[in-house]
Amino acid sequence: MILILKPHVDAESREYKRLETHLTNLPNIDFRVHRVQGSEQLLTEIYLIGNTAALSLDEMKSFPGVDHAVRVSEEYRVLGRHKDDSRTSEFTYNGVRFGQDNLNVFAGLCAVDSPSSVEAMMKALQENGQLCTRMGAYKPRTSAYSFQGHGKNCLPYVFELAGKYGIKVIAMEVTHESHVDEIVDALKQTGDPTGVMLQIGTRNTQNFELLKIVGRQQQFPVLLKRGFGITLDESLHAAEYLASEGNQMVIFGLRGMKTNIGDPHRNMVDFAHIPVVKRLTRMPVCIDPSHSVGTRSRSADNILDIMHVTAQGVIAGANMILVDFHPEPNVALVDGPQALRMEELPRFLEDVAIVREAYERRVALFAKKCVGVMTP
Ligand code: PEP
Ligand code: MN
Repeated sequence: MILILKPHVDAESREYKRLETHLTNLPNIDFRVHRVQGSEQLLTEIYLIGNTAALSLDEMKSFPGVDHAVRVSEEYRVLGRHKDDSRTSEFTYNGVRFGQDNLNVFAGLCAVDSPSSVEAMMKALQENGQLCTRMGAYKPRTSAYSFQGHGKNCLPYVFELAGKYGIKVIAMEVTHESHVDEIVDALKQTGDPTGVMLQIGTRNTQNFELLKIVGRQQQFPVLLKRGFGITLDESLHAAEYLASEGNQMVIFGLRGMKTNIGDPHRNMVDFAHIPVVKRLTRMPVCIDPSHSVGTRSRSADNILDIMHVTAQGVIAGANMILVDFHPEPNVALVDGPQALRMEELPRFLEDVAIVREAYERRVALFAKKCVGVMTP
């Protein structure tokens, strides 16, 4: 059960103390308090865990500080959608809004290799009106002998260049607690010129200790990639680890599934799950067409497979696109073969805009009542 408190009720108020005393004395019930930034104000949510079936919803609602109470199913308690659940499915970070109803593009480098590639990327993004990017500093690689990313050494110039070109949010994978500390330090050292969205990669989707650490901090939002060899349900439970530790600024990323059935693509594209994730949870959904497809192949219509699958995700309501670009893909240190080129950015964005408009028209179409047709 979740109790959502009235906005003015803070931890010092009489209403809160009375409720807290009552909850503390309930047998077999634990509770966790989360402070959540709603669209207009900071809200307090209390998650009751244990034998909540024995509690009366009406009694809980009758406490003066309680605005409303929601009985949740066992599944995805914090991030899930539950009956009569009016909790928000959006958040704003560093001036950029993330919701289940809008779309943000994160075009950028799979891996930071040099200040000049970072600058070329940021400049192109600014020229094309973009506020977000991706920049990999910590790269989890299959081979121990492959380039592992420049790590903390590149952070100062990445953040400074982001500030110079007006970039507000950088998606950046972390694979260890120390990486979060290094990002915090580098932002401080450079005067907070930009924001960071921590990314948990597909190889770490079920690294529960990392999820708990990243979930405990509330400075940065988190993009959790779906695990490439586990079920959707298992990946959604992984997202819940972040939220249960207190961070509800979570975006769920689809990036394809590892199976040779998807050949010749690098992974089997799984963007049909966009509406499923939006139905089961309140998380905005990201697609990663670059790591799904993994090549620059195109067919007779002259459209790259990466652009085709991007369109398939956008028309299904994707809320974020993570896509690899590079000024010189042939010398990129990681994933050059799947990188789009700088001169392809305007057309990529135009294609996305065409398809997004089509998605919005579809939503409007299905919002209309059918006349003369019986629906089940
Ligand atoms: C990436 O986005 O750079 C990446 C490594 O993705 P994934 O974890 O999905 O493989
Ligand atoms: Mn990559």
